[in-house]
Amino acid sequence: MPEHDVVIVGAGPVGLLLACLLLEEGLRVAVCERRAEADDRTRAIGIHRPGLDALDAAGVGVAVRAEALRLHGGEVRSRRRTLATLTFAPDREVLILPQPRTDALLRARLQALSAAALVTGCTVTAVRESADEVRVATDTPDGLSELTCSVVVVADGVRSRLRGDLGIGWRRRAGHASYVMLDVAEAMPGDRAVLHCEPEGLVESFPLPGGRRRWVVREGAEDLRTAAGLRAAVAQRTGIELEVDEGAQPASFVAAQHRATRVHRGRVVLVGDAAHEVSPIGGQGMNLGWVDAVRLAAELARALPARAPDLSGFDRQVRRSAARAQRRSAFYMSMGAPAAAPVVRGRELLMRTLGAAPLRGWTAGLLTMRGL
Ligand SMILES: Cc1cc2nc3c(=O)[nH]c(=O)nc-3n(C[C@H](O)[C@H](O)[C@H](O)COP(=O)(O)OP(=O)(O)OC[C@H]3O[C@@H](n4cnc5c(N)ncnc54)[C@H](O)[C@@H]3O)c2cc1C
Repeated sequence: MPEHDVVIVGAGPVGLLLACLLLEEGLRVAVCERRAEADDRTRAIGIHRPGLDALDAAGVGVAVRAEALRLHGGEVRSRRRTLATLTFAPDREVLILPQPRTDALLRARLQALSAAALVTGCTVTAVRESADEVRVATDTPDGLSELTCSVVVVADGVRSRLRGDLGIGWRRRAGHASYVMLDVAEAMPGDRAVLHCEPEGLVESFPLPGGRRRWVVREGAEDLRTAAGLRAAVAQRTGIELEVDEGAQPASFVAAQHRATRVHRGRVVLVGDAAHEVSPIGGQGMNLGWVDAVRLAAELARALPARAPDLSGFDRQVRRSAARAQRRSAFYMSMGAPAAAPVVRGRELLMRTLGAAPLRGWTAGLLTMRGL
């Protein structure tokens, strides 16, 4: 009999949440994480209704709600005019919490469920499947070792090495652009997002807990490598004068979209960013990974430890949801692309229409992951 029912590769938000769900089901779980310390990069901030349901199922919803800021809605602007104003209904609330805090709450929950499940400083180098188990080769500070399990879940992120080793393809999807972001203190903290879809490119801002606001600027002709450069670009595109700390360093990121050609091979399954990269413009990648984790936990709990799970339905669902999320993100990115006057006029008309009374509820649903 294998030592574990499930070994999870990667303790990002998706691997951590899945581990909590499986432990709650009474399965024997190990999580291998190559980093010795928690990841403090500031990436995801937005938590949508399906993500919140997943956090509730994992037992951390209350802790997340206690720390997060509630986003009440947002507005879309272009050329100094408001085109649409949306308010999120209480049943589709969006919470804002920086990813390192969400990860920390998930880690604490995992630790409470099983003090031994998370093994840090442990890199998985290979997985090999035999008739009734999977052998997982690991590299740790104590040397090379091997774990055995019934199923391996690969949650090792966008640059997954194991995905390639399994011979699973990684197809590029529409939507590709570069952005710069900076978190700035706010004199009058708000609770609404503001999207400026300007001819020179997108400027968006989201309130953060603790009286700060995240500014995201699509790269264009300006030099955005310094706080002063970002401030100048925001002022020029929107007329807003930010007060930035001159020493602050904007972080740049490339928003791209990819999808794995399949998400399982025998007893090895991909979840989260290892299965699909969704553009951060739209902020749904982590949430979508959690939705995968909830579906996968149900399949694994139904089958293990008695038999191998049938993951063909899961595979279809994951790829269908990812395709929908990627289409939406590609659309949001196109609304904030640098554009000539006739295109800007056309998209302003479209955004006014989407924000008008008959469509407003439908649009808010799209933005908050309805149907994913
Ligand atoms: C700027 C930015 C903003 C974003 N904003 C949002 C947002 O608002 N909302 C949202 O839903 N999403 C957002 N996202 C996406 C979100 O950050 C990712 O979808 C999420 O981190 C994916 O989680 P994951 O657990 O699948 O992978 P990751 O977070 O990448 O975690 C993978 C883990 O696996 C570990 N690992 C890798 N290889 C191995 C190995 N061989 N052995 C052991 N461990 C290994 C890594 O060290 C890492 O800890 C944003 C992304 C960016 C870049």
